[in-house]
Amino acid sequence: MKKMADSGQESQCVNMPDKTIASSVAMKVPLLDLKPQYAALRNEILPAIEAVLESQQLIGGPAVGQLEAAVAAYCGCAHGVGVSSGTDALLCALMGLDIGPGAEVITTPYTFFATAGSIMRAGAKPVFVDIELRTLNIDPERISAAVTSRTRAIMPVHLFGQMADMDPIMAIAARHGLAVIEDAAQSIGAKYNGRPSGSIGTVGALSFFPTKNLGGAGDGGMMVTSDDALAHRLAILRNHGMEPKYHYQWIGGNFRLDTLQAAYLLVKLKHLEEWSARRRANADLYLQRLAGCDGVTCPYTSPANQTIFNQFVIRSPRRDQLKAHLATHGVSTEIYYPLSLHEQPCFKSLGYRRGDFPHSEAAADQSLALPIYPELTATQIHYVADTILAFFS
Ligand SMILES: *Cc1c(COP(=O)(O)O)cnc(C)c1O
Repeated sequence: MKKMADSGQESQCVNMPDKTIASSVAMKVPLLDLKPQYAALRNEILPAIEAVLESQQLIGGPAVGQLEAAVAAYCGCAHGVGVSSGTDALLCALMGLDIGPGAEVITTPYTFFATAGSIMRAGAKPVFVDIELRTLNIDPERISAAVTSRTRAIMPVHLFGQMADMDPIMAIAARHGLAVIEDAAQSIGAKYNGRPSGSIGTVGALSFFPTKNLGGAGDGGMMVTSDDALAHRLAILRNHGMEPKYHYQWIGGNFRLDTLQAAYLLVKLKHLEEWSARRRANADLYLQRLAGCDGVTCPYTSPANQTIFNQFVIRSPRRDQLKAHLATHGVSTEIYYPLSLHEQPCFKSLGYRRGDFPHSEAAADQSLALPIYPELTATQIHYVADTILAFFS
């Protein structure tokens, strides 16, 4: 195993530049520090980037096809279609399945905005179904009641790196003839009964946003599927719907993945398994340390799942005070997500209100993400755990 940079002392805190930290901080633990990962791979990344620049094949260069093949294989799918972001992967997948005005898509209200945002942008209507409080993923037992004659798809989200309960979801989809679009933005490499994230539904949407387990040097994403005809259509749609050149069968968009991003991601993909294993090891240490702490509920992984811990999210009724206490002691945390999507002003037209999805609302009120990134040291994890235990003692 490579030697990791030992401390987060000098590190940049992504997402959370916390200016409230007291000056007499014992240790500083950022929520995420991308610098050690770059430092370890610099000698591989720079020549790969330089090769793309020297070639000047900046769009659709060979690295894009190589990454598509490698990621598809990693996800257990026949095809990968690289796109400009995870959000565009969701939107393009919806377009590829002809899901638009008049259609309903069943999804979870406890997720990043893009899940429901992409459904609305496609012209369809998100229909929310509450989550299971233990896994924070969509509750399959509540899906059937939400199916109508207009339902075209289910969009489960594999939140924080753990896959949704796919067997019952696929059974409901089969019964009603629905597509399943896996929002796998946070779950590349996760497994459900041994099957990779993105490979169970009709199509999976991945994100290479820098904070995801496989993070690019900017935005990027990919759709993965084993449906040959759908893959062909998605590849055309991500380039305006153009086929052949300057002839358009469908109206797509500019959803292309840059060659530079693909070259960068090809270097990182080789290390992804090791990073996800380190995240799981970090999680194990937190779970050991926090097991007896009555004030917090630790993340639950169902026996069917192997999670990749894109985030390690605890719950506490005293979440806001705990977050402030951790910040005072130099530990950066984040709230994913403070307001359930059914309560967002932009989705007002959907007619939901507070009280409609109590589990999602409870999660939004109580959840707190702790640092979990691969290069975190055991010393840092012990420090975070000690700080949490001290708060509740
Ligand atoms: C990050 C994320 C997205 C969007 O991905 P981008 O690459 O940032 O566009 C979609 N869904 C979920 C659940 C995400 O976490």
